[in-house]
Amino acid sequence: MVGGASRPNRTRPLSTWRDAPCENDGMAGAASPGNVPVHSEVDVVVVGAGFAGLYALYRLRTLGFSTIVLERAGDVGGTWYWNRYPGARCDIESLDYSYSFDSELEKEWQWSERYATQPEILRYLGHVADKHGLRRDIRFGTAVESAVWDAAARRWRVRTDRGDGIRCRFYMMATGCLSHPKTPDIPGVDRFAGEVYFTSRWPHAGVDFTGKRVAVIGTGSSGIQSIPLIAEQAAELTVFQRTPNFTRPAHNGPVTPGKKTALERDPAAYREAARWSRAGVPMEQSLIRTFQVSAEERLAAYEAGYASGDLLAYANAFVDLGSNPEANETLCEFFRGKIRSIVGDPETAEALSPRNHFYGTKRPCLDTNYFETFNRPNVRLVDLRRDPIRTFTERGIETATRSFAFDAVVFATGFDAMTGPIVAVDIRGRDGVRLAEKWTEGPKTYLGLMTTGFPNLFMITGPGSPSVLSNMVVSIEQHVDWVGACLDQMRAERLDVIEPTAVAEAGWVQHVNDCADVTLYPRADSWYMGANVPGKPRVFLPYVGGVDRYRKTCDEVVHRSYLGFALDGPGGARCTDGVVNRLQLDVSMVLELIEQLGMPVLETMPVADARALFAGMALGRPPGPDVGEVVDGVLPGPAGPLAYRRYRPASAGPHPIVVYFHGGGWVLGDLDSDDPFCRDLCVRSDSIVVSVDYRLAPEARFPAAVEDGFAAVRWIAANAASLGGEPGRLAVCGWSAGGNIAAVVCQLARDAGGPAIAGQVLVNPVTDADFTRASCVENGERYVLTTSLMRWFWDHYADPAERRQPTASPLCARTLAGLPPALVVTCEFDPLRDDGAAYAAALAAAGVNARHLPCRGQIHTSVPAVDVILSAAGARAEIGAALRRFLGESVAAARAVTVPAAPPEPPAPTPL
Ligand code: NAP
Repeated sequence: MVGGASRPNRTRPLSTWRDAPCENDGMAGAASPGNVPVHSEVDVVVVGAGFAGLYALYRLRTLGFSTIVLERAGDVGGTWYWNRYPGARCDIESLDYSYSFDSELEKEWQWSERYATQPEILRYLGHVADKHGLRRDIRFGTAVESAVWDAAARRWRVRTDRGDGIRCRFYMMATGCLSHPKTPDIPGVDRFAGEVYFTSRWPHAGVDFTGKRVAVIGTGSSGIQSIPLIAEQAAELTVFQRTPNFTRPAHNGPVTPGKKTALERDPAAYREAARWSRAGVPMEQSLIRTFQVSAEERLAAYEAGYASGDLLAYANAFVDLGSNPEANETLCEFFRGKIRSIVGDPETAEALSPRNHFYGTKRPCLDTNYFETFNRPNVRLVDLRRDPIRTFTERGIETATRSFAFDAVVFATGFDAMTGPIVAVDIRGRDGVRLAEKWTEGPKTYLGLMTTGFPNLFMITGPGSPSVLSNMVVSIEQHVDWVGACLDQMRAERLDVIEPTAVAEAGWVQHVNDCADVTLYPRADSWYMGANVPGKPRVFLPYVGGVDRYRKTCDEVVHRSYLGFALDGPGGARCTDGVVNRLQLDVSMVLELIEQLGMPVLETMPVADARALFAGMALGRPPGPDVGEVVDGVLPGPAGPLAYRRYRPASAGPHPIVVYFHGGGWVLGDLDSDDPFCRDLCVRSDSIVVSVDYRLAPEARFPAAVEDGFAAVRWIAANAASLGGEPGRLAVCGWSAGGNIAAVVCQLARDAGGPAIAGQVLVNPVTDADFTRASCVENGERYVLTTSLMRWFWDHYADPAERRQPTASPLCARTLAGLPPALVVTCEFDPLRDDGAAYAAALAAAGVNARHLPCRGQIHTSVPAVDVILSAAGARAEIGAALRRFLGESVAAARAVTVPAAPPEPPAPTPL
């Protein structure tokens, strides 16, 4: 056909191709094997006969639920039925990307390769279907058009494109995450008269590109897998690339011997390890940060990952690659170096080098000879960022600067991921509300399993679950098992309707977003963010917290009597409402680590040992940001010299000054303990931070710490200029016991008539010695700072009779009027939360300009944990902004006094 007239291989507009059931496999209308009569009533209708639908059918049938599967395709396989393009294969190793529910299957099925091809995976699924007689309950060539909740009958009414009407108690979407191809969104697409193929709807008979001029549009996984093979066949191949992707050699070959041995030796243990792993594949988790190691060690780790051919290798290289932009950039540059070393033409190499997203934030790929393909004489790359497509023509494609003629065009343009396959069906829940309408601003689910207002509707690997960030088979089995157990329990309790509550769903949506927000994912225009489909809301779709944590969460929901679900039926009605996973993800991870390490209990130790342990905990933590200069000095205190550490910003001075008091319950801590936080404060507030090493109890009991604090502030105010600061511009800040000292110092300065303090930032401050507040009762045992530790601190610091004095408990002051403006930061899971909240409220009531910043999901130690608790970075930014504001206002106030009044306006000129 080269140079000849192309004949269209289609009879309908491209935009409707996606929905053609089996048009391109010659099976439309055929009575495919296994087709079954449709009963008008079953317990469960499952949509989709891929990995999820097959296992759901098996499990539900085993549990004794009458089940029918409706499948648009002509056979089982799901995504592996449709995606038959050349080079299609899995990129999670086949030993992992396979079912675990059937121990015989594990023995009888031998994968021929490390990464099996699409035909082999399809054979595997066919084998599973045969072995368990699944086809007899699958209706092929049948697309579901609508599903409507009938509240009176407490059932779903499902309609298919064959006119079937089926009633079912439970309705399950097992439609996959990447099964709804994107409609071609390129102008003039229907004008092209040549052959058109979609990687996601590949003809079963295959395609022979021999001698043809072929275009491939798209360089995601599908493009990257198919391009090298199409290039080998076609006369000419032109690749249209909008975004270059991170890809590396799969090093496919025989199954990995170590993995095979581990699986064969103890399959149950191996599968259990997968279930409790981060991504559904057994692997160790690194705790090492990228810049903790030398450049050489880093390179060695990157090379090892590259050589491994393991998609997840970099998920495990360094703990901060997914969250720290500078760390991730080192990996990005490593990849670009590889591309430059493979691709001969420097301009092509540069065009193939990803520069607009971080590694992993768009799904990375594994390939075989992808970059090498661009060294072939019959292959060229069109960089659409520089030369965008203007339109399709009858003969080919016109870009901004060129015109191309093709015999065939391959769309590897991806999917409307995760939500697309679900809202493609007209699903209507309570009061006729359409799911698509409910999800206009993005999907809202509880656990990615169910959605409020749509009773008895289950989604397998739905949005808000680990799904596409995991080994799908492991996540599918977990979901199906959870649903199966749920239905089983409902039956036992004679309950027939289940639905998540609005509170639980809102909490989960918040948690999913919070988790994503500490990563780099939201920064990329990826399908994870819905950014590949014009008009789709920009929301991070999967759950990034990990397969292990997610499984634990789902189990916890069950153990807490189906927390967040309302259930009812003849057996009664019940609902334990509430939110699961209220801690921020990184906070949970730190708490788990502390638990694993089995830290000794501070308050059971001699003070010296507790101090040593406290200091030891600071070793190896991230150092905090660079500042212009750090200098240690000594200032005169009331009982002798006090050490201080001065942090100067890199910007030109003079700067205002923030006097900082570290935490540690007046007993622990020193200039090192809050060093990263002081650096962070210095950078964010653009101020000099002077951290003061006040005397500690029990050697120096109350009121030594506050006397030192006040003396230090006075000395620093008087010596501002010699410290590089601007006289008259001073604020105070402190964390925990340091927050107590900062608050007291403000009261002392007010009462003494100076020095002037422009503002106070109190982070989780101790404001009185009350242990009866709700926050103490709720959070007193689990979150690092316990009530028993607080008592230990108080016992070392002050006699009971002294504790209610305002200099120990600033909340007990006669009045809080006349104090400097304040920002009071509290954390949801801190015993001191209500202390801080009470102080903020009392300040405001006394007419002080006080703001309370409550931090959701945080614990007492979160805010100073710079570069560890990333989810508290927002609070740290607010603190920096508040200090700037306080100190900026102090300048304005000073100017209002010192700047001479402006001269009177000259008289307006008289018009001629
Ligand atoms: P994809 O990753 O979304 O890639 C689509 C490609 O088409 C992107 O390069 C995209 O560019 C480009 N594109 C889309 N619309 C375009 C337009 N109008 N003009 C020009 N270019 C356009 O889709 P996919 O390759 O089918 O893969 C989707 C997912 O399926 C993968 O990420 C993976 O999870 C899964 N998958 C897995 C395997 C496997 O190896 N197991 C194989 C295939 C797919 P932009 O990036 O600029 O949007």
